[in-house]
Amino acid sequence: AQAGNDAFLRFTNVKKTYDHKTLVVKDFNLNVAKGEFITLLGPSGSGKTTCLMMLAGFEDVTSGEILINGRNVTSIAPYDRNIGMVFQQYALFPHMTIRENLAYPLKIRKLPKDEIRAKVEDYLALVELQAFGGRYPGQLSGGQRQRVALARALIFAPDIVLMDEPLGALDKKLREQMQFEIKRLHEQLGFTVIYVTHDQTEALTMSDRIAVFNNGVVQQCAAPHVLYERPANLFVADFIGESN
Ligand code: ATP
Repeated sequence: AQAGNDAFLRFTNVKKTYDHKTLVVKDFNLNVAKGEFITLLGPSGSGKTTCLMMLAGFEDVTSGEILINGRNVTSIAPYDRNIGMVFQQYALFPHMTIRENLAYPLKIRKLPKDEIRAKVEDYLALVELQAFGGRYPGQLSGGQRQRVALARALIFAPDIVLMDEPLGALDKKLREQMQFEIKRLHEQLGFTVIYVTHDQTEALTMSDRIAVFNNGVVQQCAAPHVLYERPANLFVADFIGESN
């Protein structure tokens, strides 16, 4: 899908400074089509997480616009943006069971109790954890916890799901399983993904397009094979080439 001026998600001239001096994100522009899987790839400290936080509403934009479905969301509260999030640290509530963890995003959205109960069972099944609903996060493996985190991010049917190094804490074999799992859910449910990873292979196998990022500026955003075959500049060529 090509994402143009009518794109589902648009960052336009987004800038961010934390200290009123240094621009962490200098001029971020990106158009994303509905249902696309986009990965932000770039050096440590280049502003990837900051961009996700601005999209989620947990950081203000210093200037510029973020449009979701044509609506400028920069002054809209995080919970009203309908965005799900999965991070490297699972951030499950340790004192709540898996069922209670999954119910939480629906409770704060004030869904009726019976609807919550039904959805929790649906999403437990979706990530194949029906047998674990009564356990606490500490009683699950890392991979199982991450599947709960995924289910919790998806349970309120978000339009956009942000994933920041979601598999960073897992070993290689589990990473590959979870990559497959995420792709399956993406294809099944059709949400839009903004993904951050340091793992180029992961970015290549999962993404519709990769936005190569440096100093908070998108150097090139293209399908994985295009980045290899026709890198837009030396930075992209070096960055994509270096770990192969
Ligand atoms: P990494 O790949 O290492 O996670 P990143 O590309 O996600 O890095 P960010 O976490 O967005 O980069 O950080 C970009 C810059 O902003 C860094 O220099 C960081 O030190 C700075 N920064 C991030 N969060 C804050 C904050 N809350 N206050 C001040 N500076 C911050």
